[in-house]
Amino acid sequence: VSCAQLGTINHTLLTVEAAQSAGIDLIGLILNGRSKKPSLAERTNPTVLKRQTGLDLFGVIPLVDRATNKKVQAAVVRSVQTKAVLKATTTYRQTQKQRAKRLAQEDQRLIWHPFTQMKEWENPLVMTDAKGNYLKSAQGKWYLDGVSSLWVNVHGHRHPAIDAAIRKQLGKMAHSTLLGLSGEPSVKLARELIEIAPKGLKKVFFSDNGSTAVEVALKMAYQYWQQNGHPKKKTFIRFENAYHGDTLGSVSVGGIDLFHEVYHQLLFPTIQLPSPYCYRCSHGRKYPACGKESIEKLKQVLKKKSHQIAAVVVEPGMQAAAGMILEPKGWLSEIRRLTQKHNVLLIVDEVAMGFGRTGKMFASDHEKVTPDLMAVAKGLTAGYLPLAATLTTQRIYDGFLGDYQECRTFFHGHSYTGNALGCAAALENLQIFKRERLLKKIQPKIKLLKQELSKLKPIPAVGDIRQLGLVVGIELVQDKQKGIPYPWEEKIGIKVCEEVRRYGIILRPLGHVVVLFPPLSITQKEIRHLVRSVGKAISDVTSRD
Ligand code: PLP
Repeated sequence: VSCAQLGTINHTLLTVEAAQSAGIDLIGLILNGRSKKPSLAERTNPTVLKRQTGLDLFGVIPLVDRATNKKVQAAVVRSVQTKAVLKATTTYRQTQKQRAKRLAQEDQRLIWHPFTQMKEWENPLVMTDAKGNYLKSAQGKWYLDGVSSLWVNVHGHRHPAIDAAIRKQLGKMAHSTLLGLSGEPSVKLARELIEIAPKGLKKVFFSDNGSTAVEVALKMAYQYWQQNGHPKKKTFIRFENAYHGDTLGSVSVGGIDLFHEVYHQLLFPTIQLPSPYCYRCSHGRKYPACGKESIEKLKQVLKKKSHQIAAVVVEPGMQAAAGMILEPKGWLSEIRRLTQKHNVLLIVDEVAMGFGRTGKMFASDHEKVTPDLMAVAKGLTAGYLPLAATLTTQRIYDGFLGDYQECRTFFHGHSYTGNALGCAAALENLQIFKRERLLKKIQPKIKLLKQELSKLKPIPAVGDIRQLGLVVGIELVQDKQKGIPYPWEEKIGIKVCEEVRRYGIILRPLGHVVVLFPPLSITQKEIRHLVRSVGKAISDVTSRD
């Protein structure tokens, strides 16, 4: 509602723009008259505004000096086309419903979703808005984003500071290349990343997603040995159950058969070691008496074959995609010690666990490990834009220096490498960590989460609860005593996550593991609601079958 007078057009247009950029749908305008004898501005404002905003004009309310007069009131009501307003509102609501339906249908017709059996894909929930820790569907229902939009969101959606940082950057430059040029936001972000990274990491190579960040690390490790006197060091050591992304290089060092087996012939050979999966130890041993089976195997392999091995690739803290498999304390630091001893590089993939998820900035920080190469992505931009980086040491970097003709260059790069908008989002993300002393602030939340999770232990179907910081995997079992898992065809994890939507929560399982991966901005109240709802959903679904 604007008051028609001099200056109205400017103010109304600014207000409309502000409202629309805040995600508010406007359906029309109403103008207030200002004088008994309307000025030129008052007379022309309505047409100009209608034309410039493209909105419906529901009327011009004349100046009322004696509002108690019924006749005058009636005239006012008449001047605003109440019926038209009501009709427009109803139409808007109907359009919203139709839009929701149409979007779902078009999604089904056009989009091939990742990691999804499309034959079973029906009634997709289409998201249209987000605010804080919540997502809103086209049907108008709000949901708690319990998996941070697939492990990326950090401070909630539409964080004012990150929104503003991206807008500010947009006003300067959206993108320029790092091939042959540099960019101000990339330089600033590289400086900030090196400041927070494990000590000893000195160089930043940008790319655009977790898989490429790992791919870059693999190629760097490989090429490093090729041109630094150890051409036989060509093999990588990987772990069973590992997941490092979906490009062929990162699949080669992954170890989830369900995802990776079909590509077997496309992959390069590697050496696989056992997963540190204590709940289902492949050697039937119990932690800590087992002496960490996978470490024993690593010792043997390194002793015999280190002259052929380029690097060991690990997910620190948890093997995430395998079902949040928690690694025993000291596992990562022991791997670091052994790789150093045998002159083998260590690649740490912080794509899932980086940026505060585990209670420290990086999962490697729990064991004070500095890898030779470290991949980051996902939370780097707080869930806003695709950006990734591979960090490395001076030693690796120097191994690529040489005269142009020597061809020691790292021949790798992506079009959107170091994208300016992504870097601006990432810079603000890191500022928020500092400004809000976030790593300290989340500690009580981690504690509360632990307390709440402990209440789920008695549920018969809950076999194992694994938590690291704010990341949780709840493994569901058919037989708790024997730890017998549900047959995968039963889709028990999917059923629980569908059930939990009734409580207004979005989750995505990993097989029979229910994953909680909330943004760091989750409140204590939301933690209670999340865990208690998950408990109810597990009990309901598993007792029903
Ligand atoms: N590495 C780890 C540990 C991951 O969890 C993921 C994705 O879940 C990736 C790499 C791949 O990241 P992206 O999906 O951004 O390619």
